[in-house]
Amino acid sequence: MLKIDSHTHILPGQLPRWTEKFGYGNFIHLEPGRPGFARMMQGDRFFREIASNCWDETERIEEYAQFNTQVQVVCTIPVMFSYNAKPHDALEIGQFLNDHLSELVARHPRHYVALATVPMQDSDLAIQELKRAKANGHVGVQIGSNINGLNLSEPQFFPFFKACADEGMAVMIHPWNMMGKQEMEKYWLPWLVGMPAETSRAACSLIFGGVLERLPHLRVMLSHAGGSFLTTLGRVEHGFNCRPDLVAIDNPVNPREYVGKFWVDSITHDADLLRYILALQGSKRVCLGTDYPFPLGDLEVGAFIEEMGLAPEVVDDLFAGAALEWLDLDRKQFV
Ligand SMILES: [Zn+2]
Repeated sequence: MLKIDSHTHILPGQLPRWTEKFGYGNFIHLEPGRPGFARMMQGDRFFREIASNCWDETERIEEYAQFNTQVQVVCTIPVMFSYNAKPHDALEIGQFLNDHLSELVARHPRHYVALATVPMQDSDLAIQELKRAKANGHVGVQIGSNINGLNLSEPQFFPFFKACADEGMAVMIHPWNMMGKQEMEKYWLPWLVGMPAETSRAACSLIFGGVLERLPHLRVMLSHAGGSFLTTLGRVEHGFNCRPDLVAIDNPVNPREYVGKFWVDSITHDADLLRYILALQGSKRVCLGTDYPFPLGDLEVGAFIEEMGLAPEVVDDLFAGAALEWLDLDRKQFV
């Protein structure tokens, strides 16, 4: 059975010292750590320790084989987005990361599929890099749930989404730059509370702003099972109905109409929640995802799905069919 993990992160083994090169900012670089690990540094500040499976392509393929999973959809770590850098500097960082992924896919076309990163703070440059990445083998792009605090409904982002639809590039929305982070650092709340809210913020912005309505061919995936969007859908719909003067000002279509038109991943850590999401979305719109190699991820690569007693065709959709549709790829290229 073909298994495609639609949500994984990877970095090159080495990163340039962009802070020194550009002469400002706190760009991420890697420093050696204990054996098998590296320290991600944000300027002088320690950001996170990562293990070798964050950059070692062969180790990753071997680790995935233990879970009978052949294909990893790879994208960068959101801290690398660099949306607050000068646009051309963010473009340079994006090109470095995207070229690394292009080379990775060229080396292992049956194991890796690439999503690019682009400088969303400048839509023209973002579209330029989107097209370059596509020409170099990327099949989509990963963007943040907000762009320097701006919602994805802002008109400046529409040309980018239109380009994604026109170019047939899939879009993965990943939470980052979490709202309220400064007020809730304790208990890891930015990750546990802020991240699901960020994804719902992105979903509501794309729906209420009319982006999904105006671009029906745009193929969007909302990570972490749509964050809190699908679990609060009743509230969102009720708000649309009871206060259209606040909610329905840019798009008159009920938000529930869009359920099943975008994709989500399976990262729920909860079989009952996944059943609910499958009932809402349909199995063609729920992709196996893990957030590998990070600790909040489903690092057994969907083992809980195999224990749910789902029909074989539903499992096949979850493990491969939904992702192939989202990414517009042919199953044959992996066999
Ligand atoms: Zn992730």
